[in-house]
Amino acid sequence: MTTAHQQEVVQLLKQVIEPTLNNDIVSLGMVRNLRIVDDYIYLRLYIGSHQHQLQAEIQSKLSFLSWCKKTYIQICTIPGVKTTLGISSGKGGVGKSTTAVNIATALKLQGAKVGLLDADVYGPNIPQMLGLGKADIKVINTPTGDKFLPLEAQGIKIMSVGLLAEANRPLAWRGPVLHKILTQFLQDVEWGELDYLLIDLPPGTGDAQITIIQESPICGVILVTTPQQVAVADVRRNIYMFRQVGVPVLGIIENMSYLICGDCGLRTPIFGSGGGEQLAAELQAPLLGQIPIDPRICSGSDTGNPIAMSESTSPASEVFRKIAIDIGLSFAYRI
Ligand code: ADP
Repeated sequence: MTTAHQQEVVQLLKQVIEPTLNNDIVSLGMVRNLRIVDDYIYLRLYIGSHQHQLQAEIQSKLSFLSWCKKTYIQICTIPGVKTTLGISSGKGGVGKSTTAVNIATALKLQGAKVGLLDADVYGPNIPQMLGLGKADIKVINTPTGDKFLPLEAQGIKIMSVGLLAEANRPLAWRGPVLHKILTQFLQDVEWGELDYLLIDLPPGTGDAQITIIQESPICGVILVTTPQQVAVADVRRNIYMFRQVGVPVLGIIENMSYLICGDCGLRTPIFGSGGGEQLAAELQAPLLGQIPIDPRICSGSDTGNPIAMSESTSPASEVFRKIAIDIGLSFAYRI
């Protein structure tokens, strides 16, 4: 009986269309944790700040069910934030944070209001990559309680778990404490109005990632990999995790794809070639871009000048710009 009811509910939910993305809320991964207990429906709805009307539409659709006494919808949103995207990788050191910073910068250059949440508990280095030193986080009093005030650099609002730690000390949080801190971090930042919030996720498929995915309205993730087989295998696991929890994978970015010769412009695939393409084909996730190895990416990260801003005509910046435009088109953001 419950399975039949479950199918009935899913069919009705599939009739609720998100108007700008022009797709149904089930396919978009906006409905999760659907449970039917006795004659009651419980679900979680993951939405941006401009999508609250979907709640009433769901209630109205499900009101057709004669057996359902009541539907309980738990809203998962970040106040003021329209589109939340995750940047993930199967393992550390592939350039995930570098990519997050440069996509944020490229989106900002397109005219969007952008925030960057550094939730990489294992290596929170976003503030340094944007030129912020150790800063005290300010807490402000709002009608909905005390909130952290984000910092700002290069026109991007920034919050990092690293700012909660003492300099040069690892973030030694585990289990329930880690869960509580991350949840608070996702809910208690006063972002203001943002078109995009990018979340730099911790690498891998552990507790921290799952907490962030479940507690934030991430409507898509971008996966970063390098061309090597080991990195590719890690991303494969990562993609399965996202699909299991119902978060759409927007695509794959292959970083450190090739080195461009300064004299003749020849492209040499130092770490092998085809990994990103093979993965994209196998997992039916688009290859969003291939970023070259460029020492200016590394020096820019160290000095707080993302290449997407400082060398805006470089080949790497062109890739970041194209990705930002693609994201803008996907989420119907227009400048
Ligand atoms: P992750 O977040 O995956 O751990 P990072 O973004 O911190 O990785 O990058 C690791 C290091 O590699 C950093 O020093 C960064 O500057 C460097 N790096 C990343 N991508 C490139 C690239 N395409 N060319 C040159 N250096 C890069």
